[in-house]
Amino acid sequence: MADRDGLIWFDGEMIPWREANVHVLTHSLHYGMGVFEGVRAYKTPDGTAIFRLDAHTDRLFDSAHIMGMKIPFTKEQLNEAQRAVVRENNLETAYIRPLVFYGSEGMGIRADNLKVHVVIAAWHWGAYMGEEALERGIKIRTSSFTRHHVNITMTRAKASGAYMNSMLALQEAVSAGADEALLLDPEGYVAEGSGENVFIVKNGTIYTPEVTACLNGITRATVLALASKFNIPVVEKRITRDEVYIADEAFFTGTAAEVTPIRELDGRQIGAGRRGPITEKLQKAYFDLVTGQTAEHAEWRTLVG
Ligand code: PMP
Repeated sequence: MADRDGLIWFDGEMIPWREANVHVLTHSLHYGMGVFEGVRAYKTPDGTAIFRLDAHTDRLFDSAHIMGMKIPFTKEQLNEAQRAVVRENNLETAYIRPLVFYGSEGMGIRADNLKVHVVIAAWHWGAYMGEEALERGIKIRTSSFTRHHVNITMTRAKASGAYMNSMLALQEAVSAGADEALLLDPEGYVAEGSGENVFIVKNGTIYTPEVTACLNGITRATVLALASKFNIPVVEKRITRDEVYIADEAFFTGTAAEVTPIRELDGRQIGAGRRGPITEKLQKAYFDLVTGQTAEHAEWRTLVG
């Protein structure tokens, strides 16, 4: 990733990609305290537009607030910076990664007198699990690693250190031949994927876990808005893994994963074992929304200009 052309926004300045470096004693590298976002920009008929930029920037500031990190920029500055990074790298579609981290001014857990830095990079990133996954669906496995407890790592924050748990779960799932992991919360109820929120469909109703152990996903919120538009009933509740086994359909949502159907959990086929009709309807509506194929929710698409 490091050796390529392009520009990265670093603490207010646009600098060459290869020069966007930090010192080895960077505090966040040692203790994992940092917050970040994953944002996507899509090609729309009016030009490249960032999807739900305000929601992502709000969540970045919320994450920093939860972690007690003070971002030395305003939301407006970071919104402008994200637009500029996409524009100045001449990207038609992009994955945008803002990261807030502590510098190398000191070591130790006390973390006082540390400077808060912000970088924003953007690059082209196609379908997270491949185009085929979007159409055929993926195979997942229940993880032996439990998702975070609400009073351990702060599940409302999209924090760097939280992803150790995601990586352990994903590595385990992939080595067992699955595409993704399904993590359960500390009480054993379904929480989410390593980087996605999870939904099931049963008898025409959509079910998804309440936002406790899982991240408050922006794609999750978008899909809930689409379900309401289509008058598909939605229930946010605790879900057990065997409810997923006997669901008619299941799917993941996430900025990177978009709307990815799930066709199998723990070797058990879900429904017909392929993308279900409600999943397909929501997936199509999601892509229409992000690519501006519909005039609806124009406020969710910020042109990079
Ligand atoms: N859960 C986790 C653990 C994630 O990393 C992500 C990706 N940010 C999501 C859910 C989905 O969130 P969003 O739709 O906001 O990308």
